[in-house]
Amino acid sequence: NLIYVNGKFVPQGQACVSVFDHGFLYGDGVFEGIRAYNSRVFKLKEHVDRLFDSAKAIDLNVGMTKEQMSEAILETLRVNDLTDAYIRPLVTRGNGDLGLDPRKCAKPNVYIIAKYWGSMYGDLYTTGLKAVTVGVRRVAPDALPPNIKSMNYLNNILAKIEANAKGADEAIFLDNCGRVAEGSGDNIFIIKNGVVYTPPTIGNLKGITRATAIELLQEAKIPVKVEEIGIFDVYTADEIFVTGTAAEAAPVVYVDGRTIGTGKPGPVTLDMVKRFEKITQTTGTP
Ligand code: PLP
Repeated sequence: NLIYVNGKFVPQGQACVSVFDHGFLYGDGVFEGIRAYNSRVFKLKEHVDRLFDSAKAIDLNVGMTKEQMSEAILETLRVNDLTDAYIRPLVTRGNGDLGLDPRKCAKPNVYIIAKYWGSMYGDLYTTGLKAVTVGVRRVAPDALPPNIKSMNYLNNILAKIEANAKGADEAIFLDNCGRVAEGSGDNIFIIKNGVVYTPPTIGNLKGITRATAIELLQEAKIPVKVEEIGIFDVYTADEIFVTGTAAEAAPVVYVDGRTIGTGKPGPVTLDMVKRFEKITQTTGTP
């Protein structure tokens, strides 16, 4: 496995990060998670745009153009001869000293990792996930806007730990007002009486899979509303699914011990899983 490190491809065992990299010292960096299916990168432009937006939001100069970044991502896939992969570009503030001051970091470090990737949830796409709401909140006391895909994922990890401890497959974050925000690594959709609802993206990541799912629902002429959702709406939904680059479109059939709908993935969700599979298999940048 070859890793892209600042313009060079380095064998995995030799791909090292300096202990003075502010990404390592302070989580001062941004990243993306991208999938390749059938040798094509799904939504490459959208992911590169979001990477640069995340960088902009933390006042980090990526040090290369979006075209160069896109080409580096595609090249990482090519040199590793990967057809189906998860790709992880990271841009850190760079190597500095032990102080916080980003001005001490002369230039950013850019890393791109690409690994073979099959399916995240396996059989759960047909049987459905168990989810739990967690005590960690998505906004307060986290001062970091959840829209920034930054290298500070400790809240998400704490949520995952809580979900693991409760025997669940995924965690659902509420925000500081108790509104439903998102999963630990995905956005959430609920279905009630034939209408699909998903929360606005102030308090969660502007998911690229979320946007794709909204497009697919509109294409299928299924009404979709971007609206605030409470936990009551989740417990009483007919169907629930989550969307993410790693999770794809995945049904949720239990939340906090409540059975959702019939306890089996519903028709709108199963249709979405199928439509999403089709679009990932047939589109993307070669
Ligand atoms: N929410 C969080 C916290 C995530 O980490 C992710 C994964 O990237 C998502 C949502 C889903 O976003 P996307 O569909 O762009 O992968």
